[in-house]
Amino acid sequence: MKVISDLNQPTLVDRSLAAVWHPCTQMKHHESFPLIAITKGKGAWLYDENGNALLDCISSWWTNLFGHSNDRINQAIIEQLQKIEHVMLAGFTHQPVVELSEKLSALTHHHLGHVFYASDGASAVEIALKMSHHFWQLKGKPQKKKFVCLENGYHGETLGALAVTDVAIFREAYGSLLQDVYTVRSPDARQAQAGESAEDVAKQAAKELEQLFEKKHEHIAAIIVEPLVQCAGHMAMYSPEYLRLVRDLCDRYEIHLIADEIAVGCGRSGRFFACEHAGIWPDFLTLSKGISGGYLPLSLCLTTEMIYRTFYSDQTQQGFLHSHSYTGNPLACAAALACLEIFETEQVLEKNQLRSQDLANAFAWAKADERLEHWRQQGMILAFDIQKSYLKNASAFPREMFAKSLEEGILIRPIGNTIYVMPPYILSTEETLQMGKSVQRALEKVLA
Ligand SMILES: *Cc1c(COP(=O)(O)O)cnc(C)c1O
Repeated sequence: MKVISDLNQPTLVDRSLAAVWHPCTQMKHHESFPLIAITKGKGAWLYDENGNALLDCISSWWTNLFGHSNDRINQAIIEQLQKIEHVMLAGFTHQPVVELSEKLSALTHHHLGHVFYASDGASAVEIALKMSHHFWQLKGKPQKKKFVCLENGYHGETLGALAVTDVAIFREAYGSLLQDVYTVRSPDARQAQAGESAEDVAKQAAKELEQLFEKKHEHIAAIIVEPLVQCAGHMAMYSPEYLRLVRDLCDRYEIHLIADEIAVGCGRSGRFFACEHAGIWPDFLTLSKGISGGYLPLSLCLTTEMIYRTFYSDQTQQGFLHSHSYTGNPLACAAALACLEIFETEQVLEKNQLRSQDLANAFAWAKADERLEHWRQQGMILAFDIQKSYLKNASAFPREMFAKSLEEGILIRPIGNTIYVMPPYILSTEETLQMGKSVQRALEKVLA
């Protein structure tokens, strides 16, 4: 017998709003703004409980590289599940974590041959900051403890990572909890004046950094940057020349360079590591997001032989005494290994060159639209800004654009007046074109 009162049963969305506190969300906005219950994913497509399909143009918050429910990654996790799901990494080791570490070291041509693991991106940043800090103590220079970060940079939201983040909305309420840092000018190429190139902007920004280093280097442990693209900072892009200049300055003034590749790593920029565009290696390099293909929480911090050796001693307290319960989780490492195997066997980086050309073609319309500005692309990230004068309600724009995109069957999440796409590396030329057209139609509805 059919129970009529079932009709009044709360939906999954109702139950979520009652019990789940969603991230990066003013929950009250959900009174007028949709929350979507996803029941299935396949390839670049997400399916909601009513069977509607959404093209995931932002790789589920920049994590998903090879699509949802990818057969090879699924299989790797299933196989690992039958061996060992988790074991602590202090005093123990396992095949997936060893192989992953060896592969990552090889990808850096062994410049960064030691890998320390955690679970989320912010923790990997904390690790880089703590290692740098501890290193200078071990070197007898405990006064070298300040960090330098870039304007508009983002490195996560735990207290250490947030201190080196310069995105007002995330920091505002917590300022008094955060350590003091030096924030220097971003090399964001959008600052170029008429006649100036991105490289000119990079040189000016590096000049400013040099002045700070010259005055304060005795008190500075490290500078942290997001190589080439400040993703959460409105997809601000900059010249690789900046990284070369910063590397030189760090060498000259004995300051660590931390490259946070949590978003731009794993092929997103066009090379496996974004630093490769500049031909430099940092002292610490963080990865997360894409490393497990968007499957399981995994993050890591790679570092050099020299830094590793500094901690190597008979003294316990000279070691790096940092841990997370799920450090180096075998299932997550197995997923990451499957991803690296896909990179190798399917020539992903080579094919992404064509895919990024598809991306440029799909958004050629945006270049020609006079309401838009700062069209920019780095590998598999494409972004442009809406000129503020065309926005009736700038603060509501991201939510309106998100909602109109849903009507067009795509998932995008603008940041301020910046629209960007960061799709998984599996879209066909047709799907890419469809994405471009859908964004255009959604934008027309919002600006109408
Ligand atoms: C997302 C991100 C982080 C933080 O990673 P979480 O897993 O969200 O903690 C840090 N740095 C950069 C550059 C990021 O994009």
